[in-house]
Amino acid sequence: MTVLYNRVALIGLGLIASSMAHAMRWKGLAGEIVGTARSPETRAVALELGLCDRICATAAEAVAGADLVVLCVPVGAMAAIAAEIAPHLAQGATLTDVGSVKQAVIEAVAPHVPDGVHFVPGHPLAGTEHSGPRSGFATLFVNRWWLLTPLPGADPAVTQRLRGLLEGMGAHVDEMEPAHHDLVLAVTSHTPHLIAYTMVGVADHLRRVTKSEIIKYSAAGFRDFTRIAASDPTMWRDVFLTNREATLDILGRFTEELFVLQRAIRMGDGAQLFEYFTRTRAIRRGIIEAGQDTAAADFGRGAPAPEAGE
Ligand code: NAP
Repeated sequence: MTVLYNRVALIGLGLIASSMAHAMRWKGLAGEIVGTARSPETRAVALELGLCDRICATAAEAVAGADLVVLCVPVGAMAAIAAEIAPHLAQGATLTDVGSVKQAVIEAVAPHVPDGVHFVPGHPLAGTEHSGPRSGFATLFVNRWWLLTPLPGADPAVTQRLRGLLEGMGAHVDEMEPAHHDLVLAVTSHTPHLIAYTMVGVADHLRRVTKSEIIKYSAAGFRDFTRIAASDPTMWRDVFLTNREATLDILGRFTEELFVLQRAIRMGDGAQLFEYFTRTRAIRRGIIEAGQDTAAADFGRGAPAPEAGE
């Protein structure tokens, strides 16, 4: 148990921030945890749960005297929050964020960051389809990647200290160029989410024809899509609005591949389908071997969420 920051301010108190609060408590990584959220309802729930040591009514109040400030709001809300807190940030403080897109967050936040404050953008590759202050749990980041995209000229000691906190919560930390991050995430997360949203949309149209059959007989593949498509609409709207180019690039490639498979089905080309599915199966094995998912039936998601052990 090493206290890495004397006061951590969490701006926004949803899934990611509440998980950070639980994890920092669990591992004793922060002297004091201060939190704030936009709505009185969320602040009241955070108080009731004892998520933070102190809950403030405004972000400006929350960041005062903090040596680490974490922006945990949707990507589209980052600019306004950065403008609000900028005059209140302590000299020498580290400012980071957890936004799912990095270039747009840097464009939105960096211009507001005062001299003497270190901005180190970040993104935990961990989440669930749940949101809000009740959805967090201490083990969310265990064995998950947390990508940092430090800006040119960043102080390595500042990044190292932040790494210490993230690793203390159980994450593996890597550094990446922001544009590369956005492309990688377009492939691994953003486009798959869009495909899931679309498939559930298609089924919804069909449901009007088949009544409740789709729900009643929903099989593993579709159920997994519905889980992903239940993700927070605000967060995902902002992801697509701000990672536009990379997502459109990957969607273009996806559409081309889909046409290839569509043609193989039409032509009855079993060999091509078999070869394609054999190749994709190997990717799944690679993910399991890398410890990024479980081989359990239904991807282990039927199992209860791991307990924090606080
Ligand atoms: P969440 O559970 O929906 O919580 C979002 C928080 O931001 C809430 O406290 C909300 O306040 C606040 N907020 C929303 N809109 C706001 C606005 N316009 N101005 C000020 N505050 C606002 O979200 P989350 O899942 O923790 O996501 C937070 C960030 O983490 C996002 O940038 C997201 O891209 C990123 N992220 C999410 C995941 C994931 O799987 N969920 C994974 C990695 C990274 P109220 O409660 O008061 O409305």
